[in-house]
Amino acid sequence: MDKVIVELCENYRIDRVTNTLEKIFEGMGGIDSLIKPGMRVALKPNLLLAKKPDDAATTHPAVIQAIAALVQKAGGLVSIVESPGGPYNVPSLKRVYAATGMEDAANETGAQLNFDLRVEKIDNPDALIVKTLKILKPLRDADLIINVAKLKTHRMMVYTGAVKNMFGSIAGLEKADYHLRLDQYDKFADCLIDIYMATRPQINIIDGIIGMEGEGPGSGVPKYLGVLIGSQNGFAADLAGLSLINVDYRQVPVMKRAEERKLFQPDQVVFEGADISSIRCEDFDVPALGYPGNKGVGRKILGFIEKIFRPKPEIIHDRCIVCGKCIEVCPPKTIHKGQDNKVIIDYGKCISCFCCHEFCPEKAVRIKKNVARRVLEYKRTWGSDD
Ligand code: SF4
Ligand code: SF4
Repeated sequence: MDKVIVELCENYRIDRVTNTLEKIFEGMGGIDSLIKPGMRVALKPNLLLAKKPDDAATTHPAVIQAIAALVQKAGGLVSIVESPGGPYNVPSLKRVYAATGMEDAANETGAQLNFDLRVEKIDNPDALIVKTLKILKPLRDADLIINVAKLKTHRMMVYTGAVKNMFGSIAGLEKADYHLRLDQYDKFADCLIDIYMATRPQINIIDGIIGMEGEGPGSGVPKYLGVLIGSQNGFAADLAGLSLINVDYRQVPVMKRAEERKLFQPDQVVFEGADISSIRCEDFDVPALGYPGNKGVGRKILGFIEKIFRPKPEIIHDRCIVCGKCIEVCPPKTIHKGQDNKVIIDYGKCISCFCCHEFCPEKAVRIKKNVARRVLEYKRTWGSDD
């Protein structure tokens, strides 16, 4: 049985967050049973990009601060470790730590902000796709990883929570290589699962006090949910997160593939704490729903059509400040500046990974659905045998 604990937490006041996390750790057997004195504990937040906490694109610093203090009280030595989007270097880390409030959380607790840029190559023999990978050395060296995710929508993967958050254990722009090599959504989902299984955080916490709906993970709208979720199993934590926002887990490629790979059994998950059905957000906006994950004869055909007729990114030139971030992060390097200094996408090579959308600081990339996509989604709903 995999236990998941869902606890109400109305706001980010540090005493309230601490109290809620204590209950969650209690549900896992108590923090003293998890953390031993002298243990090196790495907190892995979601620090997608340099946004302030109120934007809800990143794990709130109050959650990190509270976990750090509780771990320290139990005798653990805390570091905050993350590879945000874009280049992985010290100036970029400093900028992200300052904007997201991690610097303040570290100052309040004495937790260490990571600036060690080394990676370590590890074998991942049980993986389906990612048999070897290079992960951030400070995560590798930690005795225990606490994965502290943010509950958000994701234009490519539908949802991001605990499992997807461990993609940030891959350094900087190397993440783009995975997008490039694995341009089918199911395969990319398998890659995310492989990375999660390789890093295997012992504790997963999802910051769902204020999540992000709409154009997540970077350009969506903050949405109040009022919960913190905890589990030692990231899939179980995500099952709770999805149930909270009223999304069938089978519509999320990572969860669908994890179940197919027998890494996750929804009927083996036990919920504790708040009753999700009474706090569920019925109108959480999840625009990427429409993943063709139906079982049966039509699946391969639907998958083929889905790949051809995927939505595409479009630059909103009125908003674009030509900062070049999208050009930097685009895995197939299919974005460039035209002669008039406008940003242009060559759709011939676009793999619809939406990294440009994810990292644009100006919300100047929108996702366009085409007519065929709408037909496909109609077919998916109509033809579902789940
Ligand atoms: S990241 Fe956004 S603002 Fe920057 S160049 Fe690309 S579209 Fe324009
Ligand atoms: S243009 Fe955007 S969606 Fe297309 S491949 Fe580049 S980053 Fe991905």
